[in-house]
Amino acid sequence: MRYLFNNISESFSHKTTKELQKSIRLFGLLSNPLLSSLGIKVMRRFGHRDFVITRKLIRWLFSPFFAGTSLEQAEEKVSYLSDFRVYSYLNYAVEEVDKELEFDKNCQIVVDLLTHASKHQNIPFSVCKPTSLGHKDLFCKVSSKQALNDSECQSWQRAINRFHTCCLAAQKHNVGLLIDAEEYNMQSAVDGVVVDLMREFNNKKAVVYNTIQLYLTDGFSRLQEMHRVAIDNKFRLGVKLVRGAYMEKERERAKKQQIPSPICKTKEETDIQFDEAVRYCLQCINTVSVVMGSHNEQSALLAVELLEKHSVSPSDHRFWFSQLLGMCDHISFALAKRGYNVVKFVPFGPINKLVPYLARRAEENSSITAQTTRELIRLKKELERRKKEARTS
Ligand SMILES: Cc1cc2nc3c(=O)[nH]c(=O)nc-3n(C[C@H](O)[C@H](O)[C@H](O)COP(=O)(O)OP(=O)(O)OC[C@H]3O[C@@H](n4cnc5c(N)ncnc54)[C@H](O)[C@@H]3O)c2cc1C
Repeated sequence: MRYLFNNISESFSHKTTKELQKSIRLFGLLSNPLLSSLGIKVMRRFGHRDFVITRKLIRWLFSPFFAGTSLEQAEEKVSYLSDFRVYSYLNYAVEEVDKELEFDKNCQIVVDLLTHASKHQNIPFSVCKPTSLGHKDLFCKVSSKQALNDSECQSWQRAINRFHTCCLAAQKHNVGLLIDAEEYNMQSAVDGVVVDLMREFNNKKAVVYNTIQLYLTDGFSRLQEMHRVAIDNKFRLGVKLVRGAYMEKERERAKKQQIPSPICKTKEETDIQFDEAVRYCLQCINTVSVVMGSHNEQSALLAVELLEKHSVSPSDHRFWFSQLLGMCDHISFALAKRGYNVVKFVPFGPINKLVPYLARRAEENSSITAQTTRELIRLKKELERRKKEARTS
């Protein structure tokens, strides 16, 4: 079992040597903290402008991480991944917006992608970010139990209606809807809304999934509490388990506000909580459906062991592994080859929208540098292996 992800040639069998060399150049750049932070600054400054040169550069730099600028291009990626039994969920890259009209537009995009997914066997989920459907300040106010004025109450109701519209479409099209987790100060309002939606839509199966960030000191207890509510109200709990992407921001905010940080003190504590959550969900698999969003090999191995221990078939749709497009293909492809359910998060959209989106994701998540370094080592190993093989044959 420990060797599941060690078969480098198998992990990269989907890449030609030319693609391998391109990835090495790219990951070499991205794993250099100085160059990548400079790159992010350049992207932020010029990325939204429609210069031919920026478009070309960004396409070259980020092509492994996004599926193209249109739905047609994204479909090609979906079909390519499906050749390796890897599923996809499409995400139209949108950034935090603050106008009602834009929230409505985003809601329609989610509904359109759910409709699109229903026509494809290889797209079992769709995804939606709370701040794409309602104003962040409202989520924060509701989370901190502040009273809303009349106009805020109306905006809040409109946000809830948009969530509801998305869930209705998910149910109608039989596609799971994953609701992302964002910053801590808005999460308790998101949890409240999503639990209400689960109560309404998850009676027969998991249609709606809430995201639980296990880097939060109270992450595991939130999971248990949501599960208790699910049992009491006889609905199925749908969860996407992640470690969490806003660590630096959360710590900075806590420091500024002179309040205790909501984040675990060490990476080890986060890892322990994450694995505990995986254990808990698999023990309760008869009432919980899980999407495990992680690039961590040890957690993936643990899940594989536990699926076996609890006699859950690899292809049982109550448990999915999920990674981002272009990241940790060695985990995704090895698991898919052995019959496990693997779904890639596949962003697409116009370059001017993708750039701020990709820049934010890279900026938010310092762990990306560590992950790209590990990816680079694996890619180099495979290139060396192929060279050696060519020399001896
Ligand atoms: C499919 C998918 C969906 C995702 N959706 C979301 C989402 O909705 N919301 C969200 O917030 N994130 C989301 N993420 C990102 C995720 O939370 C992690 O940031 C990212 O996946 C890295 O964690 P890991 O488990 O892959 O790997 P690892 O490299 O093992 O873990 C890195 C993570 O550990 C934690 N960590 C690192 N150092 C410390 C430290 N010193 N103390 C405490 N904790 C530490 C951080 O969470 C860091 O991101 C998603 C990721 C994937 C793959």
